[in-house]
Parts: sequence; structure tokens; C-alpha cells
Amino acid sequence: MDEALKKKLIEAMAGTVVAHADELTALDQAIGDGDHGLNMKRGFEAVLAETDTIVAKPLPDALKAIGTTLVMKVGGASGPLYGTLFMALGKELPPDPTIADVAQALAAAIEAVKARGKSDLGQKTMLDVLAPLQAALAAGGADLAARLPAVADEAAAATVPLKAIRGRASFLGERSIGHMDPGARSSALLATAICNAIGA
Ligand code: ADP
Ligand code: MG
Ligand code: MG
Repeated sequence: MDEALKKKLIEAMAGTVVAHADELTALDQAIGDGDHGLNMKRGFEAVLAETDTIVAKPLPDALKAIGTTLVMKVGGASGPLYGTLFMALGKELPPDPTIADVAQALAAAIEAVKARGKSDLGQKTMLDVLAPLQAALAAGGADLAARLPAVADEAAAATVPLKAIRGRASFLGERSIGHMDPGARSSALLATAICNAIGA
């Protein structure tokens, strides 16, 4: 992957997180402690500040560097989990991945997040968006970059009726039902930003 595309992807991810920070915070105010927008904004602004150093690295090392920065800067539960996601993608992906490579790497990265979070699908977390995206990537077909944003949005919306089993929202028990999971929304935003940047 060339430096220009890596830069475009970092700017797209940071841009959407900053633009939606208030929305992520509002979602986390409903079922958590109201810091998800701030956490993600702090993390991706730190990644953005390191853009030049990161894009000079081959894709696997660039992804590991993003993961390391997210672990250090995001904080909360989501920092180590997003950090694990990006570091695992860096470990799995070749420098110039195919769609099949991305599907395989995301599957492995999802397993790494599950292990780190002691969590699984259906527990109202970011995993409930990441897994349907991985399934769509594995199924393949035409126009993936155009189709995946809708997959991500539908998956995030599908967390609304779920009861949280992991993370702070689980403290609310039944009262977590009826709200979108903040981490599911941030995962959908990141996926959409990546698709738009690749498709444009
Ligand atoms: P905190 O809950 O520590 O304040 P954030 O608000 O930044 O951290 O992130 C909350 C999000 O992290 C949740 O909406 C959920 O998607 C995700 N999350 C929390 N715990 C887990 C877990 N064990 N496994 C997977 N995702 C989790
Ligand atoms: Mg929070
Ligand atoms: Mg917190």
C-alpha cells in the first residue's frame, strides 16, 4: 500500500472520529460514563499527529504503530480493545493485502479482541459490528467499498435492542436495552470512513 493511501486512511479515520465525537459521547452518556467520544478523539488525534512517521512504515508496521498509540492514548475499555484490533491486523496482513487477506486478518483480529475483552458476539459491543463486516468481506462480491457502510450501520443499529453483557453498559442490565452501543457506532464510523477513502 502506498504512502498516499495510508495517509488518506488515517485522515479519514481521525476525521470521522473528531466529527462524531459529540455523538459518541452522547451514546456513552446513555449507557456508560460519557467519555467514548473524548477517548476516541484523543486517540485518533494522536495517530493523526504521527501520520508522517506512520505512513513511512510498511502497512503491517503502520497498523501496529496505530494500535500502540491507541492503547496509550484512548484509555478506557475501548483503548486496549481497539489497540488489540489494529495490532492484530498489523500482525496478520501482508504489505499489499487482497480483500481475502483483509477478511482473514479481520477474523483473527476479532478473535484477539474477544480474548482481550473476554467477550463474544451478541453482548452489545464493537464486536457486533466488526463480525458482520468480516462476514461480508469473506463473502466477497462486487462493490464491497460501496456496500460495507450499510452493513456497518445496520449492525450498529442492531445493538439497540441488545442487553449489554460486557463493559460499563452491563452495569445497567435491562436498562441498557434501547440504546445503541457507543463502541459499535465508532466501529461503524471507522469502517465507513475506510470504505469511502478506498472507494473514492
Ligand atoms: P469505558 O467503558 O472504559 O469508559 P469507552 O467508553 O471508551 O470505555 O468504550 C466503551 C465501548 O467499549 C463499549 O461501547 C463497547 O463497544 C466496548 N467494550 C467495552 N468492554 C468491552 C469488551 N469486554 N469487549 C468488547 N468491547 C467492549
Ligand atoms: Mg465510556
Ligand atoms: Mg471511561
